[in-house]
Amino acid sequence: MKKIAVIITLLTLSIHIGFTQTKPVQYCGTVFTQEQIDNIHKTSKHGQQNQYRKNRSISRIPIQIHIIRKSNGTDGLDASSVPGIINRLNNNFANANMSFYQCNDINYIDSDAYYDLNGLEQIQVDRRNNVSNVINIYFANSVHNGVSRVCGFTTYNNASDYIFIKNGCTGTRKNTVSHEIGHYFSLIHTHGISNTNVTDELVNGSNCSTAGDQICDTPADPNLSGGLLNRQCQYIGTAIDINGDAYRPNPNNIMSYGRSRCFTTFTPQQNARMVNDLVNVKYYLSCTSSSKTLNEDENIDFGIEIYPNPSKNIFNIQWENASEVSYDVYDITGKIIYSKKNMDISENTSSVDLSNYTKGMYFLKINLDGIEKSTKLIKN
Ligand SMILES: [Zn+2]
Repeated sequence: MKKIAVIITLLTLSIHIGFTQTKPVQYCGTVFTQEQIDNIHKTSKHGQQNQYRKNRSISRIPIQIHIIRKSNGTDGLDASSVPGIINRLNNNFANANMSFYQCNDINYIDSDAYYDLNGLEQIQVDRRNNVSNVINIYFANSVHNGVSRVCGFTTYNNASDYIFIKNGCTGTRKNTVSHEIGHYFSLIHTHGISNTNVTDELVNGSNCSTAGDQICDTPADPNLSGGLLNRQCQYIGTAIDINGDAYRPNPNNIMSYGRSRCFTTFTPQQNARMVNDLVNVKYYLSCTSSSKTLNEDENIDFGIEIYPNPSKNIFNIQWENASEVSYDVYDITGKIIYSKKNMDISENTSSVDLSNYTKGMYFLKINLDGIEKSTKLIKN
């Protein structure tokens, strides 16, 4: 179920961005679904301020660094920059009493295919490499969310512990990793849920708990992308809200779209919300013996073959050495359009007929003896 959730979330994420994105390049690819927002509200109702006060001891949070290099093992993020990245993270999260540390050594993924991560390839990388119960941080040469290039993204989902970051967004004064970990712990952009619509939060603060980032000690933010800051990181825009009040956003807030080098702070209520999320949702984060090994059983080869692919209608699926097999086919929206369960043990082939579906990309998720594999089906 966990992996299905990951796939569906990623697909939903891509689709959602596809409909709302108008700018060709965007800082961050993280988008919250309404369901996720509702969950954040439910969790916040557990008295976040109280939790925050109770949680004064430092929470040590395990992370796994994954560096994607070319197939020949060259390039990729310079490992010597990792301690600096973790130091900046720990400085930014010090007031939340959160401290991050590496559970295992760096995992190198040598793959020309993933070096420039494009759209849904992230599912495959995550599936093969994620370490359980830690925050997996993947560094790639470029990150593309299916619509545009971004500095990074994550997804707010309690079964998805990964963050993707573009190497170029990790320089000594850049704080993209902190921004994405803010999202991971349930923070919304200070300009609100939409990256394109004007914020619904009023400057006078009267709707601050339900509009914008739904946090009241962050001022209403009209979205700081597009040259609205001077070199000193000060806001120079002139936008007004529907009451005629001029916005006074904080470009130093890590969850804004100000420049990454201008990011210095989370507010107390942002810290409280993150701690609350850690305590009530991401409480499972821990570096245990099971987190010490990568998902190596994912590498068991069942001799899966799919042919033809691309195909006009019929996709034949073949495998070997598996006694329990089931599979689902998803469309691009994450909806299951075909399922086959509890297949006879003697079977080692099956076929999917997509003749009633439109041309495009579909996804096959096949479970063989409890091990899940997924791949694209291209109908042309
Ligand atoms: Zn973001």
